[in-house]
Amino acid sequence: MCGIVGYTGHQDAYNVVINGLRRLEYRGYDSAGIVLDTDNGSFEVAKTKGKVDDLVAVSENLKGRATVGMGHTRWATHGVPSDRNSHPHISNNGKLALVHNGIIENFDAIKTILTDKGFTFKSETDTEVLVNLIQYIMDTKPELDFSIAVRFALNEVYGAYAITVMHADYPGVLVVARLGSPLAIGLGNQEYFIASDASPFVEFTKEAIYLEEGHMATISLEKGVDIRSIKDNSKIDPVVQELKLNIEQIEKGGYEHFMLKEIFEQPKSIHDTMRGRLLVNEGIIKMAGICDHLEKFNNAGRIIIIACGTSWHAGLIGEYLIEEFARIPVEVEYASEFRYRNPIITEKDVVIAISQSGETADTMAALKLAKEKGAFIYGICNVVDSSISRITDAGSYTHAGPEIGVASTKAFTAQLTVLSMIALKLGSHNGTLSTGEFRNLIAELYAIPKKIEEVLETTHDTVKEIAKNYIGAQNFLYLGRGYNFPAALEGALKLKEISYIHAEGYPAAEMKHGPIALIDENMPIVIISPRKGHYDKIVSNVQEIKARKGQVIAIVNKGDDQVTAMADYLIEIPETSECFSPIVASVPLQLLAYYIAVYRGANVDQPRNLAKSVTVE
Ligand code: GLU
Repeated sequence: MCGIVGYTGHQDAYNVVINGLRRLEYRGYDSAGIVLDTDNGSFEVAKTKGKVDDLVAVSENLKGRATVGMGHTRWATHGVPSDRNSHPHISNNGKLALVHNGIIENFDAIKTILTDKGFTFKSETDTEVLVNLIQYIMDTKPELDFSIAVRFALNEVYGAYAITVMHADYPGVLVVARLGSPLAIGLGNQEYFIASDASPFVEFTKEAIYLEEGHMATISLEKGVDIRSIKDNSKIDPVVQELKLNIEQIEKGGYEHFMLKEIFEQPKSIHDTMRGRLLVNEGIIKMAGICDHLEKFNNAGRIIIIACGTSWHAGLIGEYLIEEFARIPVEVEYASEFRYRNPIITEKDVVIAISQSGETADTMAALKLAKEKGAFIYGICNVVDSSISRITDAGSYTHAGPEIGVASTKAFTAQLTVLSMIALKLGSHNGTLSTGEFRNLIAELYAIPKKIEEVLETTHDTVKEIAKNYIGAQNFLYLGRGYNFPAALEGALKLKEISYIHAEGYPAAEMKHGPIALIDENMPIVIISPRKGHYDKIVSNVQEIKARKGQVIAIVNKGDDQVTAMADYLIEIPETSECFSPIVASVPLQLLAYYIAVYRGANVDQPRNLAKSVTVE
């Protein structure tokens, strides 16, 4: 988490940095700060607890003061969100400024050493230790160039970081480095941009260098971009990439929130996920990552899916899909648990990692472990060229477009679409699915964007009305069976994330083994009950709930009668194969969470304590 922006060029650095921070605010938003290198050789710093708007309120006097600067939006790991703990951090001698994304794990030991040498610390952060370590190295070895001193310091620390550092005696120079957290360098016309992703500079340049793991760069107008290995200073040739991102994709386009825009984008984003891959008329799936490695999957002893949060829910549905259609055993694990429980991994295993950002630190760490043990590793990421996508043996992008709302919506349904295509492709390849079955299923999948269009049109107002009844709810239960059990988990997670109402997802049949004790007239229960897939059993579950006076909000197919007769509120969705029903059912669940949160006055796009790209373990 944390967003970093840096600039050196000819524009007003204040504007570039502040506008850039706004675009990166999804990465962290408990505090924000800016430092400018003014002509008189000293730094102007403003920082505050709160959002970028709060920073603007205390820093507008810095407008037009410099053409070099950097800023930060924070997601606190070490020390509470406060003015003092906000970045940038300044060294004791006032010469160095540093912004940091990540965690310096051995900061405590270094802090003790530096304290013994007379250094003092204003904040509780790990970051302030690093900036003072650089000062200490420069104090003790004055002959060292600034960038070399940064490199020396980085070789003393371990953990994860993306940093940008400025030195008052090196005007116009930005030193950046990355290990575990992303950083991109935008190459403009007589100007350079630094950012955690390319969105802050997309309107200024389409050329960018994505800094690789373990690399650092010294950037100045005079000398351009000099990339080195942090370890041994060896020179690295830059790889310049052309950005595909455009400015409309990262703006709200008339919607009140990014989350709502992204919910409404799903017919298009799912279509984009399938574009050029699911060729319905020809009756084929042509997805490079999977088609090039069919035998690898086919011969796999098992597939292990690792992920976190929403992606983990997608993984659970992936398990159902792959086991049903390709009959290959699948296990789904939380990346954070997998990594630290000494799992058995063999060279016959295929490990699929799912991560929207492709930067999720837990997933990355688990993947590295699987790779070390010789497993074949496959990535499903949304962000092109992200860290995970770069270390995998193969993979499929979800192509959902930038997702900025912190609570994932369109990335989730895109992940389900990719997993569906993988399962169907594997099943048709190994003969589990007949040609006829395969063709029918891909036609069903291809029809999903149209069905979601219909859901958005026909359920939006209904869901909005239903949401009004639950502004004061304290708890929610979400139930589903089969493929819709993970969809229930995801529905509950969405509500928790953005409305702060406690919600639990459960397999509907498990309700009687515990959660039924919670049901009374005050308990709202969202039950996903499409006609295909254990409908009779769901009907019985609804009866059990009603017998205890629970309030039922049911997601049913058009023309449903039995659940309809018992439910308090109905959300009707079009029918589809059971295996794809979570994709369709998720849309009203997203809307329900969204409107309940909006009516409660919550900040839907930036829910408290969360961040979009979780780059700490
Ligand atoms: N560890 C730093 C802090 O707490 C940076 C946090 C982050 O990257 O989220 O300030």
